[in-house]
Amino acid sequence: MFTPLTGRSVVVTGGTKGIGKGIARTFAEAGARIAVVGRDPEAGARAASELQAAGGGEVSFIRADVSSGADAERMVAETVERFGGLDVLCANAGIFPDVRLEQMTEQDIDAIFATNVKGTMLTVKAAIGALSRSDHGRVIITSSITGPITGYPGWSHYGATKAGQLGFMRTVCIELAKYGITVNAVMPGNIITEGLAGLGEDYQKTMAASIPLKRLGTVDDIGYAALYFASKEAGYVTGQTIIVDGGQILPESLEALA
Ligand code: NAP
Repeated sequence: MFTPLTGRSVVVTGGTKGIGKGIARTFAEAGARIAVVGRDPEAGARAASELQAAGGGEVSFIRADVSSGADAERMVAETVERFGGLDVLCANAGIFPDVRLEQMTEQDIDAIFATNVKGTMLTVKAAIGALSRSDHGRVIITSSITGPITGYPGWSHYGATKAGQLGFMRTVCIELAKYGITVNAVMPGNIITEGLAGLGEDYQKTMAASIPLKRLGTVDDIGYAALYFASKEAGYVTGQTIIVDGGQILPESLEALA
């Protein structure tokens, strides 16, 4: 039996939509107190009241841009003020614009690294003090199969950022071990979110056909994996990844799916 998360203080960056909102809902249902973070205040307020109404723990919104160190520091300070501490940081905020390298601009590269890699590093850095005061601090990064394992045209810059997050994790987990903080990552396959819906129905159909479980993932699928890493019982697991992709990375060819 897992120790309940009742009353644990959790920050979910990018918790106002998609996977982050799913993680926030899973944690709220487990009784945690959640701060969902994003840049758009309307989407943030809407998500917080929707999650709060769904029941479970307390949910509120903090407006912050993870690519700003000052915002990351304020996000942690506001959480500690509201909830009296911080136990779990879900570094989930990310963007995935689609552009092939031949058309990619320097600004495209800077923008995706600013949110996905620099944003992850700044939020974890800002949270170290508060997490070290928790009896078991947890960091859960949302990476991807794209980059660390697979490739997809249009996402060379994105794949580089998602692999970069794992490189960061594998050293920072050693640095933070002395505080009892664990740092792990979930690696989603194709998960139905607002962001993915924007890629169109054809994309979703093609993807579902290439997945052994024949469906795209749900945000709950990722939320439950994150919940495991956040548990007290996962205290001896650090610097590790869990792939949640319906088996998508496994088939050697289309024949393997027949
Ligand atoms: P999404 O639906 O587009 O949601 C992205 C969230 O991140 C929103 O809450 C957004 O809010 C926030 N965000 C973006 N940039 C931010 C910034 N600079 N500062 C603060 N918040 C920011 O995307 P998603 O599909 O849920 O993806 C979430 C994470 O999962 C990403 O790291 C992505 O790489 C990863 N992932 C997704 C999939 C998938 O299939 N969907 C697969 C693998 C990995 P604002 O726009 O208001 O800031």
